Amino acid sequence: MSLIVQKYGGSSVSDAESIKRVAKRIVETRKAGNEVVVAVSAMGDTTDELLDLAHEVTPVPDPRELDMLLTTGERISMALLAMAIKSMGVEARSYTGSQAGMITDARHGSARIVDVTPVRLREALDDGAIVIVAGFQGFNRDSRDITTLGRGGSDTTAVALAAALGADVCEIYTDVDGVFTADPRVVPRAHKIDSITSEEMLELAAAGAKVLYIRAVEYARRHGVVLHVRSSFNNNEGTWVTADRVPSIPEGTAMEEPIITGVAGDLNEAKITVVGVPDVPGKAADIFAIVARTGANIDMIVQNVSAAATGLTDISFTLPKGEGEMVLTALRVDQPDVGFVALQYDDQIGKLAVVGAGMRTSAGVSAQLFRCLSDAGINIEMISTSEIRISVVTRADTLHEAMRVVHTAFGLDSDDAAIVHGGTGR
Ligand code: ASP
Ligand code: MG
Repeated sequence: MSLIVQKYGGSSVSDAESIKRVAKRIVETRKAGNEVVVAVSAMGDTTDELLDLAHEVTPVPDPRELDMLLTTGERISMALLAMAIKSMGVEARSYTGSQAGMITDARHGSARIVDVTPVRLREALDDGAIVIVAGFQGFNRDSRDITTLGRGGSDTTAVALAAALGADVCEIYTDVDGVFTADPRVVPRAHKIDSITSEEMLELAAAGAKVLYIRAVEYARRHGVVLHVRSSFNNNEGTWVTADRVPSIPEGTAMEEPIITGVAGDLNEAKITVVGVPDVPGKAADIFAIVARTGANIDMIVQNVSAAATGLTDISFTLPKGEGEMVLTALRVDQPDVGFVALQYDDQIGKLAVVGAGMRTSAGVSAQLFRCLSDAGINIEMISTSEIRISVVTRADTLHEAMRVVHTAFGLDSDDAAIVHGGTGR
């Protein structure tokens, strides 16, 4: 008998009809002879609506009470799903995060899982029941309070349960057919990827691909959980995310793997340029010590050559737009000590990344990327590379066009347009 963990996102359980449809699917998995544990998200946009409601009550909701509020979303869907399954004559039991043994640290709103003790889940499975767990939530032993894992945290719940229970596979159900070579809403010729390594998936998620949350991929990689990302609207095979690429090509047809696995775009970043930094040892350290104290998530960093006449240089870096104001303020406070001339803020940038393990052995990927962007008249403002990723910054209004030309240039276009079932890719 296999143990299968399934995760259903908000768009898969957005109303009573969808809940019944998902219940049927879960029951079929059980009847096929598997043990089934389900992690479920809040219905549709419930979490956003609860957040709005909290902000109508007070501009800065108390973090503990906000977690209390937000965790209700997942409790609604878990109970409705268990009811739907029971009405089909199959035993099911729902559990909150704390009942399921999701132990976290005490950080409200972005708690980290520190232990998973699924004792009650194991007992329920041994009784032959289907187990439904509220996603996105846990419990802290010291404060004895309810916590949430951060937006999109149900993916992490599912992966953590799969690891703790030793599941054979963790199926992530969403409203698209799997992981695509690019967001099909932006690049209509994107195609589904049959299998991808967790290393590549991490880079794609970090570069803005929204289909899987980075923390869930990290957790899966660290604990050796096999992920299968697939649609809850059909029975098609989705995308397998594994430690090594699953050979999907029939033996004998020795085909080359594509060099590039996917293209991601991100419009949520901004660029800060520290202008006129004295070009002496220690200044970059000073600047990024200030930035680090804010807790901001820095991505690309570029330092220009300094002008010989002045001995001054410029340092630019990218960060999420939401953290821009905070970092600017911190830098302004210490401007006299560091001794730079000015700050520039630019929130009209787009970040494009190409990802693929194949580029490790292929020279010339950068040249090909830059060439196709220049052929399309798209200017590159920043570049950074890692072993399996190249990222460039462009103007925000050219990002989508850039994604399409790069997708074509690297031979990723499929013959027909991808089918999008609606929703946001979650
Ligand atoms: N309901 C939560 C959110 O919308 C968690 C999740 O969907 O995974 O962020
Ligand atoms: Mg959600």
